[in-house]
Amino acid sequence: MKVAIVHNQEAKTIEVTERLKALLTQSAIQIDGQRPDLVISVGGDGTLLSAFHKYSHLLNEVRFLGVHTGHLGFYTDWRDYELEELVNSLQTNQEQSVSYPLLDIKISYLDDKPAKHFLALNESTIKRSNRTMVADVYIKNELFESFRGDGLAVSTPTGSTAYNKSIGGAVIHPSINAFQLTEIASLNNRVFRTLGSPMVIAQDEWLEIKLENTEDYLVTVDQLDIKESNIRSIYYRIAKERIHFASYRHMHFWHRVKDSFIGEG
Ligand code: NAD
Repeated sequence: MKVAIVHNQEAKTIEVTERLKALLTQSAIQIDGQRPDLVISVGGDGTLLSAFHKYSHLLNEVRFLGVHTGHLGFYTDWRDYELEELVNSLQTNQEQSVSYPLLDIKISYLDDKPAKHFLALNESTIKRSNRTMVADVYIKNELFESFRGDGLAVSTPTGSTAYNKSIGGAVIHPSINAFQLTEIASLNNRVFRTLGSPMVIAQDEWLEIKLENTEDYLVTVDQLDIKESNIRSIYYRIAKERIHFASYRHMHFWHRVKDSFIGEG
């Protein structure tokens, strides 16, 4: 097995990463940042998102695994004091994995510039800096609504507990192959009307968000900010690719949700 490690720069994370590297070397597990079978992120959910984007060209070959050095994360199953157990599992256990849907994003432009493609693990948002965003929302090429407000967020099931949840979206079990459209502060009155509630879009459907022609859009893809002018439309659908997580241990999704957001009471 060849392992790559992606970590953040916090002092505790660097110390944990050094211990992990030593344990892997002792166990004759090769560290290979170029062509890994397994990518271990050490840090938080943000670190796992960075690891996903760094290795998104190898999605069919790699599995991901997260060690968290802070509070319990959504993509991080192992604690920093469980490194021995983790390395032991890598040596002895079967290579089990679980896969989850990703979001395919295509940005098309008003000029001749070729369209750009992105993959998101959590979500993509479209916002305008300081003015009302005006956009037409199409579902499978049919106009559904004209949106006015701060912006729109489109999230994956695993991303449903991230930004999507903060703006009132539903938490979706990651075994459901669907994506979600959530409004950010929509203007709803007698003149402007949108559905006003989050929508779960099926796997064989696609969204087109057709934007009014202005220069000041901010498009995000997970942690990435894309500031571009001349955007005509952004298309969203479930990606052909999926992310594979190494599942040496299983944590029930709703248990994780309870643990993160409610606690034991
Ligand atoms: P970060 O690592 O500081 O993450 C921000 C917070 O979001 C952390 O508490 C992290 O644990 C949590 N988070 C990330 N993915 C999650 C998930 N799938 N489920 C539950 N919680 C999750 O910041 P970053 O590195 O810039 O991460 C980018 C992500 O942060 C974005 O994809 C977005 O979802 C999230 N975010 C959330 C808000 C918000 O809730 N208001 C605002 C901005 C960004």
